[in-house]
Amino acid sequence: MLKHLTALLEAWRPICTSWLGRIAAVKMSLLPKLLYLYRVLPIPIPPYYHRIIQTRVSKYIWGPIRPRVSKTVLLRSKTKGGLGLPNFMGYYHAAQLAQITLFHAQNEIPLWVSLEAIDLHPLNISNLLWLPPTTRGPISNPITGHSLKLWDKLRGPFKLQSPHSPLLSFLDHPNFYPAQISPNSFQIWHRAGLSRIRDFVSGSDIKTFASLQNLTDIPNTEIFRFLQISHFIRTTIGTHTSLDDLSLFEGICNSDPHAPGLISLLYAHLTSPPNNLPPYTAQWSADLALHLDTEDWSDIWSNTKISSQNIIAQEANYKVLMRWYLVPARIAKFLPNYPANCFRGCNEQGTHAHIWWSCSIAQEFWAAIFQIASTLFQHPIEPDPAIALLNLIPSDFTRSQTRLLLQLTTAAKQTIARAWKTPKLSLAEAKNRITQAMIHSNFIEDYIKSTNFDPLYVRRLTIHM
Ligand SMILES: [Zn+2]
Repeated sequence: MLKHLTALLEAWRPICTSWLGRIAAVKMSLLPKLLYLYRVLPIPIPPYYHRIIQTRVSKYIWGPIRPRVSKTVLLRSKTKGGLGLPNFMGYYHAAQLAQITLFHAQNEIPLWVSLEAIDLHPLNISNLLWLPPTTRGPISNPITGHSLKLWDKLRGPFKLQSPHSPLLSFLDHPNFYPAQISPNSFQIWHRAGLSRIRDFVSGSDIKTFASLQNLTDIPNTEIFRFLQISHFIRTTIGTHTSLDDLSLFEGICNSDPHAPGLISLLYAHLTSPPNNLPPYTAQWSADLALHLDTEDWSDIWSNTKISSQNIIAQEANYKVLMRWYLVPARIAKFLPNYPANCFRGCNEQGTHAHIWWSCSIAQEFWAAIFQIASTLFQHPIEPDPAIALLNLIPSDFTRSQTRLLLQLTTAAKQTIARAWKTPKLSLAEAKNRITQAMIHSNFIEDYIKSTNFDPLYVRRLTIHM
């Protein structure tokens, strides 16, 4: 398989695709091939295998150039400020975990679950996950053994299991001696659907005997059994503030292990970054002296995602946001003789903020772009680097207005990128790009379909720029 994937990447290499196009190819074509194997083969795959694939994919995405965006940023989801490049180890874990939720299937039980359950008898397959490894006893089936090994490795670090094991059936617990000595004594409880820790707790307390009797037909004679159960739960789980909470994984097992999209759900959980922002956010805030909070960044990422239907234009937006471009000040850090000043001849440090925004030539250019925007929207829009460079559109803009303003700023950024290392910026080229973007987008179609003739559409099509 590794050979096949490498051959595929080699075959794609000569095809001239964009940076985002290559990431999309990996996501849409390579990942499904691997996911199929991850789902159908319940076997251990050594971590180095995933690392090899990740390295080869990285080589394919960057080609001969040095990576300009860190791997951590690339692997973050687009909604968290990354580009959503697949993390193959994460997908392997998610696919394997999605399979073992089926240990809890109540209907349409897959044949492989039934076969493993027979092999495990008298152990209960749905209880296996929640038992401490030391109390499980020997597992002879190598497939179940592999699943449990992976589960034991992941359940703690990724908080897949709640500390009080709410789905654990105490009737099968080897330390619940009353049921071990006399299994039939708890038949009434089992039949009443009261066998898991979750069935006996509410908030931070264990339910009373009377409240359980209100829900079921447990007779008064069962009070002694109830005391045995509640004593066991109290001594096993200790005290927790919220005993009826379920983790994401427990929720899936408890509700519907057949639900669609489980792999994506688990992948998002396993690979969700800690609550920090990618490094470029702090760099932009410092460069442009902006105070942007997590919500602002969340808006920036969702706007960048919809900035254009044209992948090249969208790519330009991501490249600016992630500081992909090699500005003179950055090149001078690794090439000591390289001039660190702006290539437009203004004798200022060629930093990201300068080249893209504060350079006098860029300022003149952006003033003209914001003038076009003001004419189009018929109210003044002050030049603002958060709008221009980071796609943070004012919150009172409608969705359609947001898209339009994004088209303007994207066209302007593409023009600046095209004029890299040259002294001038062409406003005529920017205007041409804006017109092209409008013609190629759905706006004209929307206009024709539009019955209320939104004046914004009319101005957009007739504006004399
Ligand atoms: Zn300059």
